[in-house]
Amino acid sequence: MRRVGVLGGTFDPPHIGHLVPALEARESLGLDVVLLVVAGDPWQKSAVRTVTPAAVRCDLVRLAAGDVDGLEVSEVEVRRSGPSYTVDTMEALAAAHPGDELVLLLGADAAAGLRTWHRWEDLRRWPVGVMERPGHRGGPPEGFDARRVGVSRLEVSSSEVRARVREGRSVRFLVPDATLAEIRRLGLYRDAR
Ligand code: ATP
Ligand code: MG
Repeated sequence: MRRVGVLGGTFDPPHIGHLVPALEARESLGLDVVLLVVAGDPWQKSAVRTVTPAAVRCDLVRLAAGDVDGLEVSEVEVRRSGPSYTVDTMEALAAAHPGDELVLLLGADAAAGLRTWHRWEDLRRWPVGVMERPGHRGGPPEGFDARRVGVSRLEVSSSEVRARVREGRSVRFLVPDATLAEIRRLGLYRDAR
């Protein structure tokens, strides 16, 4: 049996605020692996801004995760069509690997917003690890088996990284070098759409 942490995100782009808490949650919750699940269609975001194509975000996350022990990139949501619902992902992972014990990992902001998620009540079936995030308090709604995970508090977001790239400011060390090189190569985030 494996204990598997599931950290979903848009990862547009991935940054140290995803990677460091993922590894620290792995340690503190005794997880064998953390799956970085790249959202195929992050419907709450694609409704309000242009999101980088999923295949490109997958490449950025693969470059970010490299061959780090305990991190794996999952494309389950990219292979599925339609809006990416976490509940579908958890059900698919549970069905595909019945022996795995799944733990849903959420940053504090995501945990506080759970009520806006599709079929959120059905997510109560899994334990939740809430990773601290500077500037975000609160946790999941009642009924979740949630546990706060103390992690390095990194005040960084993909929005901020995109804004910095657009403004020609440095994102070195906020984003892994290999990911940054790909962002440069593709000319991502240079205009504000
Ligand atoms: P955006 O600024 O575009 O919303 P983001 O930085 O919030 O992007 P997401 O891909 O939306 O990144 O986040 C995926 C998951 O990672 C969410 O559960 C989120 O709470 C968590 N997360 C993101 N950044 C941090 C951070 N700095 N510290 C802790 N958790 C984080
Ligand atoms: Mg966010």
